[in-house]
Amino acid sequence: MAKTEDIGGDGTDFAYRYKMEKLQTKTEGRGNGIKTVIPNFGAVSGDLHRSPHHLAKFFGAELGSISKYNDQTHGCTVNGSHTFEALRDVLNKFIRTFVLCAKCGNPETNMSISGKDLILTCQACGHQFRAAPGHKLTNAIVQEFKGKKGKGDKHEKEAQEDENEGSDTGIVADIDVEEAPAHSRHDRKHRSRREGKENDEDKEKRRKERSDKKKADKEIVVDPVTAELAKKMQDQSRAFQEDKRQEAKERRSYRDHPMMVEFDKLFPLDAPLTQQEIESKKEQLLKRKGQMGQLAILYALERQMMKRQGDESLQEFNFVLNALYQNDICHEVNIRTWYQFSSLSHLYGIDKTTSEKVRNKCKDFIEFIEEEDKEEEEKADEVDEGALDDMIDNL
Ligand SMILES: [Zn+2]
Repeated sequence: MAKTEDIGGDGTDFAYRYKMEKLQTKTEGRGNGIKTVIPNFGAVSGDLHRSPHHLAKFFGAELGSISKYNDQTHGCTVNGSHTFEALRDVLNKFIRTFVLCAKCGNPETNMSISGKDLILTCQACGHQFRAAPGHKLTNAIVQEFKGKKGKGDKHEKEAQEDENEGSDTGIVADIDVEEAPAHSRHDRKHRSRREGKENDEDKEKRRKERSDKKKADKEIVVDPVTAELAKKMQDQSRAFQEDKRQEAKERRSYRDHPMMVEFDKLFPLDAPLTQQEIESKKEQLLKRKGQMGQLAILYALERQMMKRQGDESLQEFNFVLNALYQNDICHEVNIRTWYQFSSLSHLYGIDKTTSEKVRNKCKDFIEFIEEEDKEEEEKADEVDEGALDDMIDNL
């Protein structure tokens, strides 16, 4: 297919060097099973010199829908119905954040990792900058990179262990015994007496070496990441207990939870509640940390849906929910907890009809974050300390 679209150009320069294929889109299926397919997804990401899997993840994160790249067909499927314009906007956002040089706008940039940051380096002007710090895709790429590196280290470690095992099989001692018959009896006697002494010393030395090695092995067996994880899980569970106690204390006044009061103040009922509104009040919403605060935001949002009535506000609901998720205002575990506990809604002053209607509306979104969580779980055995700290910080 002809490459007709400028990569990051303003569309006025006909001689613009960087071109890519125009996004193709079509919808498949009906009703709840409706999907949007981008058949030339592989070609587009290829033109951008970016992994189609990363691009698919970005689409998923931005649209709050499950988005999967198919290695066989080179197409991408996004759950739900999305217009060409919406998908093009997402693609342009990706290009702006993960492709173009922040200084000169050149689309030829290389990705590298530095700590928790994804670094883009411009091949034209040499400018280096952090790409979209904190974005779900940034974190995923960094994790992916560290996972690969972690695996490499593991192989090295195993190889080393194999070598160590080799020196511990007693081969050195066998050689002495085999050499012995070549000498006369006297020699042998003399030798063995002399060597006996040496052997004792050697044996002592070797015994010491072996015991040192065993000590070292013992230290390796409890690998530091596992130990750290165990300790942090303990701390976490303590924090969880504390949360529970707090929760019991607050249960009596759920309706007037400070965050619920603030939420209603931040989003007055006479103004529309949209994704943009959430993003503009991000700082205030992030002030209240912890599980209870995040749950209060979600129940406050649900209560507003009840007060706002009408399906019009419900239309925006998934976008609002996604904005809370993408901006780390509410973490997936808390969104899923909220989703699961419709039985608690009445404690926040929400009627049963609303709580069912609202949850029915965001089924797809919940499926999407569960899918993301699964992906993260798969990577869990590659978690390094830095990522662990992130995880704990994010709780
Ligand atoms: Zn540049």
